[in-house]
This record gives sequence, C-alpha cells and structure tokens, in this order.
Amino acid sequence: MALKNIKAERLVQLPPYMFADFDHKRDLVKAQCNDLIDLSVGDPDIPPSARLKGYFREALNEPNIHRYPPYKGTRAFCRAISGWHKQKGISINPDNEVWSLLGSKEGLVHLIMALVNPGEAVLLPNPYFPCYLSAIIMAGGVPVDMPLLRENNFLPDLKSIKPSVAKRTKLMLLNYPNNPTSADAPREFYEEAVRFARKYNIVICQDAAYSEMYFNKPAVSILSIKGAKDVAVEMNSFSKMLNIAGWRIGWAAGNQQVIRALGQIKMNIDSGAFLAIQRAVTRMLTENTGQTQKEVTQIRETYKRRQDIMVKGLTRIGLDPIVPDATCFIWLPLPKGWKSSMEFCEYLLTKLHIHTNPGIGFGKYGEGYIRISLTSPESVLLQAIKRFSYANPQ
Ligand SMILES: *Cc1c(COP(=O)(O)O)cnc(C)c1O
Repeated sequence: MALKNIKAERLVQLPPYMFADFDHKRDLVKAQCNDLIDLSVGDPDIPPSARLKGYFREALNEPNIHRYPPYKGTRAFCRAISGWHKQKGISINPDNEVWSLLGSKEGLVHLIMALVNPGEAVLLPNPYFPCYLSAIIMAGGVPVDMPLLRENNFLPDLKSIKPSVAKRTKLMLLNYPNNPTSADAPREFYEEAVRFARKYNIVICQDAAYSEMYFNKPAVSILSIKGAKDVAVEMNSFSKMLNIAGWRIGWAAGNQQVIRALGQIKMNIDSGAFLAIQRAVTRMLTENTGQTQKEVTQIRETYKRRQDIMVKGLTRIGLDPIVPDATCFIWLPLPKGWKSSMEFCEYLLTKLHIHTNPGIGFGKYGEGYIRISLTSPESVLLQAIKRFSYANPQ
C-alpha cells in the first residue's frame, strides 16, 4: 500500500525541484568517469585551523559540556559576538541583541517563519539563496522580487518598489556580500534601505555569511548604519569565516524585538548549539585575537588568489566573468550563442565534465549566468579553465 496525501500543504506549495534530470546526468558522469571537476558547491575545502580544532578537543573534556546549552547561547558566546561587532564599531547588547544559531541557514528560515503572516509580502532579492523562497512559501508569505541586475551593480532598485507593495511588506531580505552574484553593497545602499524600512515599518535581515570574504574593501554591516537597529538584524556564520560549515554555528544580532521573536520560535524547535562548538569559536574571538585575524586573512587571501586565477583564465579564453567584490563564487554571463543557463551547464557537465550551477536555480533573474564555485585548490581551477576553453560559443 502507499500512503495518500501525506505531505502538508506547505510542502506541496514549494516550487518543484527542477534539477532532478541534471543531478541524474551528474551522477552518470561521476559513475562512468573519474575526472569530474565539481565547481558547484560553496562548501569550503580548506580545513579549519589546528588551533580551532584544538580548542574544540579541549572543550570536549570540560565538565557539563555535553549537556543542553542555554537557548540563546552561552553568556561567553554572546559576549564574544558582541565584542566582534564592537571591533567594527557596532554596539550589540550581549543580553538581548544576540541569539546563537545552528548555522545561519536555519536562522534565516526560522526568522521568516517567526515574522511573516500568510499574505504578507517579503522583498526577495532575485537571484537568491534558495532557502529564502522556500521559507517565505512555507510561512504563506508572498515573495516580491527585487531584481539584482548587472546594470545596477546587482543592487535592488528600492525606488521602483511601489508604496502599495511597501505597505503590505513585513520583511526585506538582503544578502551582501551576495551569493550568487559576488557583488557587495556600499554604505549608501544600506542607508537608503534603512530609511525605506523605517518609513514603512519593515524588518530588514542582512544575510552576511560572506562578511569576511571580501577582496577590496571590508564588507559593510547594516548594523553600522545610524538607526539600523530600530529595524534590522544581521545573520552571520562561522561556516565560511572559519571553514567549519559542518559544525553548524552562527548567530543573529540586532533589533531586540526581532531577536526575541526568532528566539521564541527556536525555543520551540531546537535546543541550542553544542557547547563545545560555542566554546571553541568563543575562544577564537577572545584569545590571541591577532592570530585569529591572521587566519581569517589567510582564508580571504586564498580565495582572492583563486578568484584572480579564474577571472584571468576565463577572460583570456574570451569569456566575460564579473570580477567579484567578495565571496567564493564567480558569476559568469553565458558565452555568446547560449540562451539558457541550464543548457550551458549540461554541456559543461556532459561534454567537459565540469559541474557548475545554472543561474536559473537561483531565480529567474539568475538566468543568463552560471555560478562557478572556488572551493577547490588552484590546480583544479587551472584544469577547469583549460576545459572551459573548449566551451566555444555554439
Ligand atoms: C553559505 C551560506 C550561508 C551560511 O550557511 P550556514 O547555515 O551558516 O552554514 C548563508 N547564506 C548564504 C547566502 C550562503 O551562501
């Protein structure tokens, strides 16, 4: 027998998964050849530092470390996060303006669930990190696209948002430094966004997962804008900052009412991040911080080198990569002659054995581009460039 109608409506509502066929082709290439180059995931390949692993190992021997953590994070963790923001000139009260996260993905999804009522609009940058859209739909919200276009430096045009839409909007999502376009946003943009949000009583959530992976100027936190804490929160994560994507640790900081709402939903869903992990990252932020800075800088420089190699290599063979401001991705416009990002990615996969992401996977304004991930060593990237040189227009 088969169960009938087991899925809740909120799952039925989710957009269908478009990549089953593409995934199947990838699995075939993987099984039949041993030369697949995977440039598809933003999963850091560099190991965490020996120091961080040491802190974690030491924490495992501490008394009571295996017990349930406090929901919002340990006092030491919240203070360390507050200190991290303070270094950037931002004042965050560790008692009521921080909440620990099991990675920022769950934080983003739960924040949307905590704030958005059925029928309320959410301003969604498009292209987007796919879980944003799923969360909006699961909450019954109405996604309203903010197109990120090359001619606007991949920034939303807030002036084009109609007041009638703004009035029924609950939340604006921003993701800078941006995945997948690798653009960053200037201060003036955040100032405009904060003014807009204050005017229309809208919450802004900045997904700042790549805040430390910048190549020109340091990324701006929305919380550094005057008046931002009245409307905004920042979600951040150690996944990319310290190469511990699998550890699942991040945080939300900013507006107290929003943090409280997020905390309320999380208290009903999870029981906090493993104390040993909180302890390890807390020590990274509070002990020998010069060394931590150095480690984060090293990670940044590694990606900068990889980015240079990829941008130069792709340009040399006649492609037109957009030079990233930040992140571990390259956003590449389709070569001439290609109409669909899916077709181009299928060609790269089946003919050249390179796995990349079609822009359409990040929303309709991602069409016309593919995303290339730089989470592979330079030797692999050089090999990939050689193969890309066969991707002649046609
Ligand atoms: C990687 C990433 C995150 C962080 O995910 P974690 O859950 O913290 O590991 C958040 N947002 C974007 C856009 C990302 O690419």
